[in-house]
Amino acid sequence: MALFVLGMKCVICSKPIDRPDRVALFRPFVSNECDPLWMFNDRAFHSSCVDEHPFGAKARARQKEVIELGAPSARPCAVCNRIITSPDEFLPLGFFSEAGPLSRYNYLRFHRSCLPRWQDLTRFLNLFRAEVASGGMKGQAIVALLKDLSGGRDEGK
Ligand SMILES: [Zn+2]
Ligand SMILES: [Zn+2]
Repeated sequence: MALFVLGMKCVICSKPIDRPDRVALFRPFVSNECDPLWMFNDRAFHSSCVDEHPFGAKARARQKEVIELGAPSARPCAVCNRIITSPDEFLPLGFFSEAGPLSRYNYLRFHRSCLPRWQDLTRFLNLFRAEVASGGMKGQAIVALLKDLSGGRDEGK
């Protein structure tokens, strides 16, 4: 959750947020810096500014979805179909896109030990790398995820 101090400026209107009951806080729920919702990531707003913003409703819905579908118990491992109980083994993909070829991989998760047995791994990594190379996805979390999924190898080396 974004760190909030009374008097902090709202990202949308730049005016101070002076009432704790009128604040809308977003946690770090977007990893792709090219996502139109990136501006909400880990930030504080007036609740009314979020209500009126063209992406406000979408940001609230996405954050809810990320929290619900991102929970370890929300879905089983896409390879072995068992719920992942060990945090060390939990490898979630998170959200990629609303449409397009990567959207079918939204919120998939794996046991680390199961990932190499995923039949779609090569196809998925090729799509993911192409999206990053074309500038459609960027950011530290994206780079870290791609590296992790590539077996710890740095891309392009
Ligand atoms: Zn505001
Ligand atoms: Zn598994």
